[in-house]
Amino acid sequence: WDSQDSSAHEEKIFVAVRLRPLNERELGKNDFSEWECINNTTIIFKNCLQERSMSPTAYTFDRVFGPDCPTRQVYEEAAKKIAVSVLSGINSSIFTYGQTSSGKTYTMSGITEYAVTDIYGYIERHRERDFVLKFSAMEIYNEVVKDLLSSDGTPLRLLDDPVRGAVVEKLTEVTLRDLSHLKEMLSICQAQRRTGETSLNEMSSRSHQILCLTVESEAHEYFSAENSSILTASVNFVDLAGSERASQTHSAGTRLKEGSHINRSLLTLGTVIRKLSKGRNGHIPYRDSKLTRILQHSLGGNGKTAIICTMSPAHSHVNQKQISTNAQVNIV
Ligand code: ADP
Ligand code: MG
Repeated sequence: WDSQDSSAHEEKIFVAVRLRPLNERELGKNDFSEWECINNTTIIFKNCLQERSMSPTAYTFDRVFGPDCPTRQVYEEAAKKIAVSVLSGINSSIFTYGQTSSGKTYTMSGITEYAVTDIYGYIERHRERDFVLKFSAMEIYNEVVKDLLSSDGTPLRLLDDPVRGAVVEKLTEVTLRDLSHLKEMLSICQAQRRTGETSLNEMSSRSHQILCLTVESEAHEYFSAENSSILTASVNFVDLAGSERASQTHSAGTRLKEGSHINRSLLTLGTVIRKLSKGRNGHIPYRDSKLTRILQHSLGGNGKTAIICTMSPAHSHVNQKQISTNAQVNIV
């Protein structure tokens, strides 16, 4: 997801990095920051414990946000434009990617909240169109799709629709009354996910969460027929599973299986995004994972994408895992 690679293309994928602050536990252990943002687009790995001859390594992205940066600013500069484009009929996806406890959920829940507030604000100011908003939410765990708005936990099947691509069968879709109704739905998802976390032990770190807001609009009949077209688009807020490698998560058995599935989804997403950022020609392997099948309509075509890579700055998190994760982000 090398920004320089994609910047040559008009429809580029926006890639940002957000470094979280050291938390109290890390500060309590006298941990320190190995990463530093030196400007708006560059982050350096300081190599604190290496000899002075080892120069810091710099990585460049479309945008880099330091530990003092509030989520509001991350939203404004990395996600807003892409999220509100749903109002003009453009499909989009916003991802948070990173190791467990790097701040994916923290960042994504803030971004979602700001985005839906802005979308409703726009609708209030544009009475010349009638808007219908629909909301659905799902979780992909172990390549099994589950409805986050239903408590029965039945695995859902993907069906191929000739127009819409993969459609999740029997997924609950709620027609929203207003912003507070949407916020109510968001808290149901959060609660649903939290239940999974306690009963299945950190399940959320191994599952992908997709929140989907669909906006349909049509010019109000009272106004001129100038802009009478019907627009429909979706914006997906995707909180990805932890990016740590399967071989390093845990030993054999189910966890390894889970890990390898997560890697498959993340790996496929990485491949798809790399291919898209190099242009839209040739075969793009959407079908290789549930995640990319579900997101195909928003990643391909005229879709817009932002990826926010969250990172812990702590020295104790710097090991093969984090370096390889970041190198991977940079190369993919
Ligand atoms: P992840 O979803 O990647 O596993 P979380 O979003 O749950 O990580 O974040 C881990 C912890 O760090 C949470 O307690 C969260 O509130 C905190 N945190 C994450 N990012 C930030 C930030 N930018 N500023 C302050 N606290 C943060
Ligand atoms: Mg999380």
